[in-house]
Amino acid sequence: MRFISTRQRGEGISAAEAIIKGISWDGGLFVPEIFPELTLDEIKTLSAQPYEKTAAVVTGKYLTDFTDRELIEIAVEAYKGFDTVERAPLIKLRHGEYVLELWHGPTLAFKDMALQMLPHLLCASMKKTGYTGRVLILTATSGDTGKAALEGFAGVKGTAICVFYPKDGVSAAQKLQMCTQEGDNVFVCGVEGNFDDTQTGVKEIFADEAFNRYAMEKGFVLSSANSINFGRLVPQIAYYVWAYSCMASRGAVAWGQKVNFIVPTGNFGNILAAYYAKRMGLPVHKLICASNANNVLTEFFREGRYDCKRAFCRTISPSMDILISSNLERLVFELTGRDTEKVKSMMKELNDKGKYAVGENIRAILADSFWADWVDDAKTKETISKAFKKSGYLMDPHTAVGQAVYERYLDATGDATPSVAVSTASPYKFSPDVLEALCGAKNNNLSESQASRKLSKLSGTNIPDAIANLEKKPVLYRNWCTTCGMKAEVEKFIGRL
Ligand SMILES: *Cc1c(COP(=O)(O)O)cnc(C)c1O
Repeated sequence: MRFISTRQRGEGISAAEAIIKGISWDGGLFVPEIFPELTLDEIKTLSAQPYEKTAAVVTGKYLTDFTDRELIEIAVEAYKGFDTVERAPLIKLRHGEYVLELWHGPTLAFKDMALQMLPHLLCASMKKTGYTGRVLILTATSGDTGKAALEGFAGVKGTAICVFYPKDGVSAAQKLQMCTQEGDNVFVCGVEGNFDDTQTGVKEIFADEAFNRYAMEKGFVLSSANSINFGRLVPQIAYYVWAYSCMASRGAVAWGQKVNFIVPTGNFGNILAAYYAKRMGLPVHKLICASNANNVLTEFFREGRYDCKRAFCRTISPSMDILISSNLERLVFELTGRDTEKVKSMMKELNDKGKYAVGENIRAILADSFWADWVDDAKTKETISKAFKKSGYLMDPHTAVGQAVYERYLDATGDATPSVAVSTASPYKFSPDVLEALCGAKNNNLSESQASRKLSKLSGTNIPDAIANLEKKPVLYRNWCTTCGMKAEVEKFIGRL
């Protein structure tokens, strides 16, 4: 399988090269030259086996320069630190409604599903391509990618990682998780601005030829741990296949019967992975794209207009506080019939004017596969509380955005297709807000850890160790910079390595 850029026709590069590079030199994203096929029989075979097998088989369809044996070893290594043998448990809420919990990894968000695999994929890729230098991972985070990437790359030979987060745009627990990270090859820095500013700053460093040359002279090639890296996207396709095979083997659907997936969306990585699974042949009816008040994707799916010239909102689902959803470019590439010139001109419009529009024919294809809506913070809290009262299920604010949008979908369509909502984070990453949702504003002055303890008592669920241990750890990073200063911070970090 070769990987081609969304913005330029060409022969493409191997999976290993695409994983090392992260982003194409023309600013485009790497995509597979075709969608590999996954038959129902193959999915059936997977259903009796551990999660790792699904991960290896699905990633193997794309990463054809890796052997089956390599991929199974990587998957076993990646998921061994998860707190459940199922890795991604499927929970039944009620008849026909399921939740796929993707936060049983070390950092308690779904980012671990991919970022526990990526360092292994990257190291193997370096060996395959004969690259002997080091890889410097530059990452922008809306809260969860940062910690998951740090956890994945800390101490990994031949790599170093630098994480930038919006300094006032992540939850207290998320910030503490990152700023207590130990390791000689890691660096964490706040940025004055929101996630989009931070992500744009990182993208500019990637596109800076002089800076790339400088890094190269110091022995580093720059790469990304954001979902713009295909190596980050591909392990995420696997859990949609896994969810389906769990549904079917439990009898929640007949083999071959379609399901809906509900995905709380920010950078469009997670839901894009679901779309890839559908294109491979997974029986999927609708992908329900759920947003918070940063509702640019809702408008895109409903009206065919992508317009990020609007106020950026800070919400209680901060990992989705994003207006520039990078991975949408990969979907647009498919929807235009893989027209690289068209993609290039749309992305130029986005860059110059902050918006672009798609034609009637593309809107029709969109409506066929997707349904989108958004909810505000008040509705999100109401949904957390309602779900807990109704089914005893405690959800984090991101998952609740998905649930609330799904309820709107049911009201609007009456669709009885069985559904799987992806649960993207542990509620304990957002204890104060979840607690407030359950018992009102009266807990406002509780500390993070007091809120977690109260939440635990109230819900009868355990505080995950990764949260319980946080307050004992020393804070190692209190530094921040402006977007203009990011490059200098990376330079200083390289100097120390
Ligand atoms: C990253 C994240 C999202 C959004 O996922 P995308 O792939 O960026 O669309 C949703 N919820 C949580 C908890 C996240 O960390």
